[in-house]
Amino acid sequence: MGIVISSLSKNYGNQKALDSISFSIKSGEVVGLLGPNGAGKSTLMKSVTGAIIPDGGEIKVNEFSVLNQPIQTKKLIGFLPENNPLYYEMYIREYLKFVGNIRNEKKERIEEVIKKVGLTPESHKKIGQLSKGYKQRVGLAQAILSNPEILILDEPTNGLDPNQILEIREVIREIGKEKTVILSTHIMQEVEALCSRVILLNKGKIVSDSPIEEFKGQYKNLE
Ligand code: ADP
Ligand code: ADP
Repeated sequence: MGIVISSLSKNYGNQKALDSISFSIKSGEVVGLLGPNGAGKSTLMKSVTGAIIPDGGEIKVNEFSVLNQPIQTKKLIGFLPENNPLYYEMYIREYLKFVGNIRNEKKERIEEVIKKVGLTPESHKKIGQLSKGYKQRVGLAQAILSNPEILILDEPTNGLDPNQILEIREVIREIGKEKTVILSTHIMQEVEALCSRVILLNKGKIVSDSPIEEFKGQYKNLE
């Protein structure tokens, strides 16, 4: 169980966005994908969700192939893209019902996720009336709505102010107790705050893959 990535490659023209990458993630791990802009983080995450087709290699999620069994793997994965687009004119519940294709008997799941991501005090509002931090909570609610085993978060605190960052990290920390998480970021403090393992990516290659404690040691040596 978990995610197994083998010799994954993706090129854009001559640009090697992913250069034969291999690693595994065990069920329940919270893994940070750290790297500068252009490192290949988004390409890697979109390959795992099935949004882009790699040029080579294989991705398995709980033994299912993302390429050959996309219906099975998509059910297992929740995704929060960077700059997640939201419908500003919709009420929160209306939006979650819409994106989740929620049937009446599953309505209570909406209340459950609203509570889980801390939307309760704002839950009567339209999305456009929310602060950026609360908008991001809607994104997280959407990502966990179908109760996926795996949650993939692309730069989840980008563009938020310092208080909102701490609040969103707290929500992610709680969700991370129950799920396998891959979190992409270019911010070291974010992986320190949330992840037990760090995969450092640069120019489409894995530079290091280590437990957070070891990584912090290496990082300090670089300073
Ligand atoms: P990151 O998420 O780490 O910033 P990306 O996966 O977005 O990195 O990009 C990896 C490399 O692939 C970069 O050099 C980027 O310019 C290139 N790239 C990504 N998407 C495209 C695209 N749709 N067309 C052309 N080049 C792309
Ligand atoms: P803030 O959350 O501080 O208001 P945003 O960048 O989220 O800042 O949005 C600023 C304004 O831009 C919103 O109030 C809205 O009118 C508009 N806007 C931004 N993104 C969208 C979108 N995806 N759909 C509709 N309107 C948007």
